[in-house]
Amino acid sequence: MAEAAMAARAAPDGDGDGDGDECLPRYRHLLCPDLLAGQVAFITGGGSGIGFRIAEIFMRHGCRTVIASRNLQRLAEASKKLVAATGQQCLPVSIDVRQPQSIAAAVDEALQEFQRIDILINGAAGNFLCPASALSFNAFKTVIDIDTMGTFNTSKVLFEKYFRDHGGIIVNITATLSYRGQALQVHAGAAKAAIDAMTRHLAVEWGPNKIRVNSLAPGPISGTEGFRRLGGKFAEQSNQFSAIPLQRAGSKTEIAHSALYLASPLSSYVTGTTLVVDGGSWLTSPNSFSALLDVWAAGANQPH
Ligand code: NAP
Repeated sequence: MAEAAMAARAAPDGDGDGDGDECLPRYRHLLCPDLLAGQVAFITGGGSGIGFRIAEIFMRHGCRTVIASRNLQRLAEASKKLVAATGQQCLPVSIDVRQPQSIAAAVDEALQEFQRIDILINGAAGNFLCPASALSFNAFKTVIDIDTMGTFNTSKVLFEKYFRDHGGIIVNITATLSYRGQALQVHAGAAKAAIDAMTRHLAVEWGPNKIRVNSLAPGPISGTEGFRRLGGKFAEQSNQFSAIPLQRAGSKTEIAHSALYLASPLSSYVTGTTLVVDGGSWLTSPNSFSALLDVWAAGANQPH
């Protein structure tokens, strides 16, 4: 492919996005570096993948962060990297979003540390490829419990402990899986569709409390666990991304920039909506049942 065409397809500022959970080696601010100065973001799933990059980009814009998930050791390592790269504070806290008490304890700890929480990113999720015919009752329930219940649990704890009286911003990370009934994804598609509905309900009920609630639905994002588990490598190798209008996978930084928009005053009149950030993928990409069955049968995908 000609160099110019390659350059046109490259992700802007996705340079150095990488496969692992490392901070960007270079970063050029497109927005003012103090966009989130003085604010605090509570990010579930903030120790890895998309959530890690959201934490980094927010911190590069003056935000302090709380990164929350189950694996405290991974969170502590992520926090060290984030602090070293950005000079901002980052508190790692262990939670299971299925257990409201663990969220409440973490929010108390965060409020003790920072005295405020302005932004909640609901990014924690579990996913894997599996045909509905082979999906156990328990596997379906687990994904609903983590994604859908987890989003509700965390939002409600934040509402009760802080947002009801101070306002706040909630960004739910969802997906486009349900839009066309993505093959081998009934569990995650149903879970994320329920979250998009929750976004609208909570935007209506909590708007008067000065709380904005939106969803952000990424397409295939390279260098993530989701990409590895859900057939991203296969799609890349079989040239399926040429079917995407923008002809490539997205980068973690592109998702983080969209989260920055939704979490900042740039979107101050936006609530109850879903921002799709997928290069147009869901409109045109093949929904290949048989090809995905092959990926699943190859055994690359095990539940969390
Ligand atoms: P990831 O790194 O695996 O992120 C999932 C995070 O959720 C992990 O940090 C995990 O940390 C946390 N988590 C899982 N179960 C949890 C629980 N019970 N309690 C608390 N935390 C829990 O995957 P990712 O691909 O970056 O995905 C991030 C988000 O983007 C997800 O919501 C995903 O559905 C969405 N998304 C991703 C893509 C993609 O292409 N990657 C596309 C569309 C949507 P612990 O293991 O430490 O708990």
